[in-house]
Amino acid sequence: MSKRPGRVPMPVADPRERIKNFDQVALGYTEEMALTEASRCLNCKNPQCVTGCPVAVNIPAFISLLKEKKFREAIDKIKETNSLPAVCGRVCPQERQCEEKCILGRRGEPVAIGRLERFLADWEAKNGRSPVKKAPPKGKKVAVVGSGPAGLTCAADLAKLGYDVTIFESLHAPGGVLIYGIPEFRLPKAVVKREVEYVKGLGVDIQTNVVVGRSITIDDLFDRGFQAVFIGTGAGLPMFMHIPGENLNGVYSANEWLTRINLMKAYKFPEYDTPIKAGKRVAVVGAGNVAMDAVRCAVRLGAEKAMILYRRGREEMPARAEEVENAEQEGVEFHFLTNPVRIIGDDKGWVKAVECIRMELGEPDKSGRRRPIPVKGSEFTIDVDTVIMALGTTPNPILSRITPGLKAHDWGGLITDEATGRTTRRAVWAGGDAVTGSATVILAMGAGRTAAQDIHRYLESGSKDW
Ligand SMILES: Cc1cc2nc3c(=O)[nH]c(=O)nc-3n(C[C@H](O)[C@H](O)[C@H](O)COP(=O)(O)OP(=O)(O)OC[C@H]3O[C@@H](n4cnc5c(N)ncnc54)[C@H](O)[C@@H]3O)c2cc1C
Repeated sequence: MSKRPGRVPMPVADPRERIKNFDQVALGYTEEMALTEASRCLNCKNPQCVTGCPVAVNIPAFISLLKEKKFREAIDKIKETNSLPAVCGRVCPQERQCEEKCILGRRGEPVAIGRLERFLADWEAKNGRSPVKKAPPKGKKVAVVGSGPAGLTCAADLAKLGYDVTIFESLHAPGGVLIYGIPEFRLPKAVVKREVEYVKGLGVDIQTNVVVGRSITIDDLFDRGFQAVFIGTGAGLPMFMHIPGENLNGVYSANEWLTRINLMKAYKFPEYDTPIKAGKRVAVVGAGNVAMDAVRCAVRLGAEKAMILYRRGREEMPARAEEVENAEQEGVEFHFLTNPVRIIGDDKGWVKAVECIRMELGEPDKSGRRRPIPVKGSEFTIDVDTVIMALGTTPNPILSRITPGLKAHDWGGLITDEATGRTTRRAVWAGGDAVTGSATVILAMGAGRTAAQDIHRYLESGSKDW
C-alpha cells in the first residue's frame, strides 16, 4: 500500500531575519497549498474532528467546499459557528482539539485543519465578506463584560439572534488577550481588529474604558434595562514566586511585559509613552506559551541572551512544541531543572543577577508531572538585567467581591453551571478564563457560545426559566 502524503508544511519567516522585527512568523498557505492539504481529508462518514471543536465548526463541510474552490461558501460555513476564524486559525492548539481527533493522525499526520481555516479567513479579508444574516430585532438588551474571545463570541451569537448587545471593556482597545497578550508575530493586531469589526458589524456596541465593578456595577446594568449579563473578564491577575528581590526594577510579570509591548507599543518609546527596559540579558521564569511569547519578544527587543528558567525538564514543559521550536530557532537558551530563589539588585535598585537552585525530579504530583525537588547546596547565580515572571494568572476577584449573589472559588474563578454558564446570581452568566483560570481561546469561545444559547433560552421564556 502506498504511504499517504504528509501535511503540507507551513511556510515560515527565516529565523535570522524574523528576530529583527515583530512581523508574522507563520506566513500562511497559498491557494495551491490549501487545495493540496484539503485533498488529504477523507471526508469521514462519522467525522470525529467536529467533536474536538468546542464551537462545533462543521469541518468536513468547509473542507469539501474548499476542495471545490468554493472559498466564500467555505468561510461562510465556518462563520456559522465561529466568529473569529482568522484568530483560531493562527493560535488554536488544534493538535489537542480537532486535529487530535482526525483519523489520519492514527497512522500519520492529521489534516492541518487550523491552517485551512486561516487560509479561508485570510482569503475573506482580501475578497470581502458576505452580507451578515441576522434574525429580526427582539427588543431585548444583553450586557457583556469583557471583550476577549469569550465576550466577543457570546456577543456575536446573541446579536445574530436579534438581541441588542453592548460589550463593556475596561481597556482602551477590544480583544482581550488577543490584543494585549499574544504578540504581533503570532497574531497581528490587524487580524484581531478585523474580527472585532465583524462582531461590530453584527450590531454589537463596544464601550471601552469601562471597568465593570468600578465605573459601573452589575446592578447598574440591570437598572439600565439590560435583562441578562455575561461575564467574560478573563484571568489577568499575574502570579509571582514571592521570593526576595521580586520588587526590584527590571522585574516584570509577563502580563505587564506583553501588555506594554503589544497594546502600548513600548518598543516604539518615546513615540508611544510607555517605557520598558529592553534588557541585554533577560530571564523568563516558566515554560508555558506565555513564557515563550515573553522570551521571543525579548529577543526582538535586542536581548543578547534571552533564556527560559524552568524548574522541571524538557518533557514537562507545558508550551506547545511548535512554540518551543520557534524559540529555539530564534536563539533562546533553555535552563531546565533550574528554579530562582532570589533576585539580586545593584545599589540603584535594578536587577543584576538571579540566584537559582538546581532541581531534580521526584514522583509525579497531582498534575501527573514529576515533582521538582531542590538539590541542597546547589545554588548558583546567573547575571541578568531583566526578569519576567510567566507563572500563570488567576481571575481578578473584583466582580465577585462586590456583586451580591455572585460567588467565586477561593482562587478567584467564578462558580458556574458547566452546561449553561449560569452563575450563582440570577440572569448573570460567565465563561472563559474568568471561570476556568488561564486556558485557551477556543475554550473561552465555546463557553461564550454555550452561555449565548442559554441566555436566548432564558429570555425566550420571558425570564422565567432560571
Ligand atoms: C501571552 C498569552 C499567550 C496566549 N497564547 C495562546 C494561544 O496561542 N492559543 C490559545 O488558545 N490561547 C492562548 N492564550 C490563552 C488565551 O488567550 C485565553 O485563554 C483567552 O484569551 C481567554 O479569553 P477570555 O475572553 O476568557 O478572556 P480575556 O482574553 O482575558 O479577555 C477578558 C477581557 O475582559 C476585560 N476585563 C477584565 N475585567 C473587566 C472588568 N471588570 N470590566 C470590563 N472589562 C474587563 C479585559 O480587559 C479583557 O479585555 C494565551 C494567553 C496569554 C496571556
